[in-house]
Amino acid sequence: MAVDVLGMGAVAMDLVLRCEDLPGEDGFAFVREEAWLPGGSCSNVLVTLTSMGVPCAVSAQIGDDPYGDGVRADLDRAGVSTQYLFTKRGGTSLHTLVAVDRRGSRSIFANLGDAFLGLSESQVDVKMLEGVKVFYTDMFAAKPALKLAMLCREMGIPTVFNLEVSPTFMESCKVGREELEEMMSLCHLLCVGREGLRGLTPAPQEKEAALYLNEKYAPEGGVIVTLGGKGAFWAGKGETISIPAFTVPAVDTTGAGDAFAGGFIYARLLRQRDMGTSLAFANACGAIKCQQPGPRFKANEKEVEEFMEGHRSEHAQ
Ligand code: ADP
Repeated sequence: MAVDVLGMGAVAMDLVLRCEDLPGEDGFAFVREEAWLPGGSCSNVLVTLTSMGVPCAVSAQIGDDPYGDGVRADLDRAGVSTQYLFTKRGGTSLHTLVAVDRRGSRSIFANLGDAFLGLSESQVDVKMLEGVKVFYTDMFAAKPALKLAMLCREMGIPTVFNLEVSPTFMESCKVGREELEEMMSLCHLLCVGREGLRGLTPAPQEKEAALYLNEKYAPEGGVIVTLGGKGAFWAGKGETISIPAFTVPAVDTTGAGDAFAGGFIYARLLRQRDMGTSLAFANACGAIKCQQPGPRFKANEKEVEEFMEGHRSEHAQ
């Protein structure tokens, strides 16, 4: 089946715990509600895109455990092709524990299992890119993601690299600094969350960091830094755009960066809208997600447009 977007990265089941406040060190919190929900950054981005009607496929590895079964069933239900979702026999799938407080802030604990990072270069090949218009990755796992990004570079397919966790965390997930640098040099667009910026550049402020990364790695489509409730900042060739976040009552910010990335890929790379409009669309997807519980964005293009129309007066774009 031909798809427009191939994604390689985190696919997971999340145990979401709702509490009043996140516990500090030695603290504890009462759980008001708990539920197993499908998540994983890459799945979240691909499901955002399928909700806009974009055919997508995922490439990752799960184990043959209940978490893996949950991941596969969820992606099948959402209409994301699982033809490149590999299963490690006897393996444990990636799963996480997400604690969310009443303001929507969260802490995440990840159990990597042994399947997720075991995806190898030999499991991916050029056939997976046939007809693909965008390759999206969070670099899990590093070697196969780099192999596909290199093939994409040769084939003229844009790679979107979403760095959502710090380089130190990446290292603990077997993604070395050199591999990270290689991906930042290969990608068409670099998207970084505040966590991803930690220790990534010598710049003290997020906007300076975006300019630094854009100068150093010169990705064709520029660098986006997402700033949570402060919006997002884009730095491209000799140009920058800063967009404030929409004012919404946030209930859960989990997956906001993924909804933003999916919205941006849709508007900019698949619908070729201009940069300002694409950033505003992505910003709206992030804001809509913050009003929805759980890690998944649930809206279609029309609903995003209506949200933007309803918030036109507050938005600079
Ligand atoms: P991540 O989920 O990767 O940490 P961010 O928290 O930076 O990503 O959020 C991504 C985007 O979601 C932001 O750039 C913004 O567009 C939107 N967003 C996040 N938090 C809020 C909020 N509290 N109110 C409105 N929009 C938000």
